[in-house]
Amino acid sequence: MTMKLYTENIQTIIEDLSPELKELSEYIYDHPELGHEEYLSSKAHVTLLEKHEFDVEYPYLGIDTAFKAVYKGKKTGPTIAYLSEYDALPGIGHGCGHNLLGSTDTGAGIALSKLVDEVGGTVVVLGTPAEETNGDKVTMAEAGTFEDIDVAFCTHPSDDYYASGTSMAMEAIEFKFHGKTSHAAASPFEGKNALDACLNTFNNINSLRQQIHPSARVHGVIKQGGEAANIIPDFTRAEFYVRAMDMPYLTELKEKVIRCAEAGAMAAGCTMEWGHYEASYQNLITNKTLSERYNENMKQLGIEMNTEVKDSMGSMDMGNVSQVVPAINPYFGISEGNSVTAHTVEFREYTKTAAAYQGMEKTIAAFTETALDLILDQQLLADVKAEFEATL
Ligand SMILES: [Zn+2]
Ligand SMILES: [Zn+2]
Repeated sequence: MTMKLYTENIQTIIEDLSPELKELSEYIYDHPELGHEEYLSSKAHVTLLEKHEFDVEYPYLGIDTAFKAVYKGKKTGPTIAYLSEYDALPGIGHGCGHNLLGSTDTGAGIALSKLVDEVGGTVVVLGTPAEETNGDKVTMAEAGTFEDIDVAFCTHPSDDYYASGTSMAMEAIEFKFHGKTSHAAASPFEGKNALDACLNTFNNINSLRQQIHPSARVHGVIKQGGEAANIIPDFTRAEFYVRAMDMPYLTELKEKVIRCAEAGAMAAGCTMEWGHYEASYQNLITNKTLSERYNENMKQLGIEMNTEVKDSMGSMDMGNVSQVVPAINPYFGISEGNSVTAHTVEFREYTKTAAAYQGMEKTIAAFTETALDLILDQQLLADVKAEFEATL
């Protein structure tokens, strides 16, 4: 462990910052915005970061609700990034708690910025839109945003404190089936039924299911199923998510699923085309060296991380980030240990409680301590990078 020279400073910084961060979280709670419509939410983050002397590029990469905020310390050192989310869900607003997530990660960036003039280094806060749908961490990972970043941190509210784990690799695949209309009673024999092609696909996938790895998931819906019962449908469209624990198995499984659709179309005399309807997410690779240091820092703050790591059956765009830069994505508790799951009204309501704000403050403190460890202990940073290289 490096000497905890700055622990008291960090506590003071967080105490000073906390009211602004709560205000940010509650403002975003009150103004829930869906992915790529987060105009008020992104603006609120940018305003706070500019107040704290960050240089902000907004919009970023041509995305209206994305931003890149940079605070360069007076001395050189590593570049540490914190990734903020602020998109909401349809109907239930901030049921995933991204209002609090954003305040926590932006707060960690601001807290660290107060120290890098003295210890060296650069702080980057990235505003990453649309995590729930078409996550722009994917766009950023592909655009080279992380090329000059040494380490990336993200977190997520939860029912407890969990060490950073894994998430599923996922592809969002759509199938379009083309057939030929005909009167369903008078001349059905002249039609080619695109709905049959679609239903065959679901049945083929259900047959495939027995032979897929238990950790994998394939689930879909029919988005367009035809126009009227007396017309043989000439067009149908289905959307699927295909998920697996790693990229090689995802690729294998995806090919099998596509074959199910090809066969379904062929049996109905139709044609099929496939594509992606949302961004594909890679699996999260937790940097263990980094994660262990973070967990130790949480322990110093009185929090015992649940190290039965939270291996999420969901998928997150932080996965793509973790494949291009060393990263962790730990969870913090907001419900005083009460069992509650994300994407619910109950979860949303917990984001405004004292327990939630305690989780936010503890996470900011541990993120800041861990960043300082990386800045002050070159060996730690080298170990983190060596593990990253070895994992690739
Ligand atoms: Zn969510
Ligand atoms: Zn979420």
